[in-house]
Amino acid sequence: MDCIFCKIVNGELPSKKVYEDEHVVAFHDINPIAPVHILMIPKKHIQSVLAIEPEDKELIGHLHLSLQKVAEEMGVTEQGFRIVTNIGEHGQQTVFHLHYHLIGGKQLKWTM
Ligand code: 5GP
Ligand code: ZN
Repeated sequence: MDCIFCKIVNGELPSKKVYEDEHVVAFHDINPIAPVHILMIPKKHIQSVLAIEPEDKELIGHLHLSLQKVAEEMGVTEQGFRIVTNIGEHGQQTVFHLHYHLIGGKQLKWTM
């Protein structure tokens, strides 16, 4: 499968990892939009939130707990941060492997 995030998972593509365990991996976004911009992904290829299945419940819970850990490691929990997952065309999803952007390190705005 030609998925860049699967390639990051299996080491075919390099990445600056900040967290990894059996089920998830987190790494720096190649084109950061804030001082802290991390991508957290499940190692399992899932296209987006829309493709999550009941059997993935535990994995998704684990991914959120891992986001907590990484946010703490990145030092953004006190001042706050944002977790975003884009879905499909209107959501401007460009990589079709489920990923959560962890964005922070500055005052964020909310505009569309
Ligand atoms: P999306 O637009 O799908 O929500 O986000 C995809 C994100 O992946 C973008 O923020 C983009 O900068 C990042 N990205 C794309 N290709 C690579 C890559 O090869 N390595 C890393 N670390 N990030 C990537
Ligand atoms: Zn993938």
